[in-house]
Amino acid sequence: MTLKKPKIVVLGAGYGGLMTVTKLQKMIGVNEADITLVNKNDYHYETTWLHEASAGTLHHDRVRYPISSVIERNKVEFVQDTAVEIKAAEKKVILENGELDYDYLVIAVGGESETFGIKGLKEYAFAIVNVNAARQIKEHIELQFATYQNEEDKKEDRLTIVVGGAGFTGIEFLGEMGNRIPELCREYDVDPNKVKLICVEAAPMVLPGFDPELVSYAVAQLEKKGVEFKIGTAIKECTPEGIIVAKGENEVEEIKAGTVVWAAGVRGNSIIEKSGIEAMRGRVKVQPDLRAPGSEDIFVIGDSSLMINEEINRPYPPTAQIAMQQGECCARNLAALIRGKAELEAFKPDIKGSVCSLGHDDAIGLVFGKKMVGAKASFMKKMVDNRALLLIGGASLVMKKGKFNVL
Ligand code: FAD
Ligand code: NAD
Repeated sequence: MTLKKPKIVVLGAGYGGLMTVTKLQKMIGVNEADITLVNKNDYHYETTWLHEASAGTLHHDRVRYPISSVIERNKVEFVQDTAVEIKAAEKKVILENGELDYDYLVIAVGGESETFGIKGLKEYAFAIVNVNAARQIKEHIELQFATYQNEEDKKEDRLTIVVGGAGFTGIEFLGEMGNRIPELCREYDVDPNKVKLICVEAAPMVLPGFDPELVSYAVAQLEKKGVEFKIGTAIKECTPEGIIVAKGENEVEEIKAGTVVWAAGVRGNSIIEKSGIEAMRGRVKVQPDLRAPGSEDIFVIGDSSLMINEEINRPYPPTAQIAMQQGECCARNLAALIRGKAELEAFKPDIKGSVCSLGHDDAIGLVFGKKMVGAKASFMKKMVDNRALLLIGGASLVMKKGKFNVL
């Protein structure tokens, strides 16, 4: 008599999903379970490097690698497709080109840009969300520079780039653009004095909530690279010509710009709401063992999930650091379940700190409680980037894709 093998389906090959699969394939034998990994593309991209591809300081091929290079084909079946709906009652996932049954499901489809319903953002602003978007931002900015040189009636607003939000994403993108603009000016024979790089932040400070001393350093360094900060200023609308902002109660201003990059928030993946799974802004508030509320067989990890940090009674921020740790915990819990264990491990994040790059040559960081800036922080940032490759694909992936420009 042969026993039916449980079917594990993992949706999304980002940090959380790929970590789950690569750990699970090491933990269980071929005969213990069928594992299927579903992802939109046949490659994984380093979401945490997308600001570099968007600015054009790193080629988009450097931020991605084939999923086939890190999965064991005898244990994991890879399906390149897009999940469109989860039918939890039927234990089924509907894909664009088919459907899959599961015994255990891992939802690791990441997040989406949150526009808070602000008019015109979806139509006229870019968001740094995946490789396709990054490539388009880079090419759009280059096109603005090239067009400016060719038009008789020169529109200087083409050379204005607005970044909405001075969170980590906005600041990291500004750091890259600060380095890229002098190169673009040389490539396209544009006078650097005509280019504007403006950051609009609704909160009264840059990087709200982060260490004030490190924030001051970042602001000063970015200002040296030509960034103009407008803090306490909220984007209210985006138009084909730029943005409308509000400062204080009554002050409204139009800022004309050829490029608007919206980096002012993330939410969960809309497939979760479409599937009727209980969520807050598309993020599922998971149980301590990472399963969806009331569910025995659905795990939700990474940016699709939400967990409260009881110490401060606020959600943990959606980060790659946490997504990868959740992936490891999820793999252990899946292995326990298919081996018939009822007790699952409660996820406990081990937050080592945050490092925010300011271009490839500068950064700020708070790591294990220690503050660092400049070359030291920049070195740390590259080590963090390489560590993600190491944890998922081992030393050979670090050799192929790692960042070694550490000096
Ligand atoms: P993702 O890594 O986004 O992966 C989701 C995967 O699911 C993708 O491969 C996607 O193609 C796939 N997918 C989506 N929808 C579907 C579908 N319907 N069907 C099939 N596949 C689907 N965090 C840090 O900790 N440190 C950093 O330095 C850092 N830097 C960042 C820099 C930038 C520019 C950005 C935007 C974010 C950064 N973050 C950082 C946050 C971090 O990238 C996210 O928290 C992390 O990527 C979440 O991992 P995830 O596995 O949930 O999703
Ligand atoms: P965020 O939510 O952290 O920051 C968004 C910023 O936009 C906030 O400062 C907010 O005040 C501002 N904002 C909101 N509405 C606005 C409006 N209408 N006009 C102007 N400003 C507005 O988003 P993020 O920076 O994309 O970060 C998302 C997650 O990814 C976070 O958890 C972050 O920690 C993580 N991340 C980490 C790193 C890193 O560790 N180096 C890098 C990038 C992102």
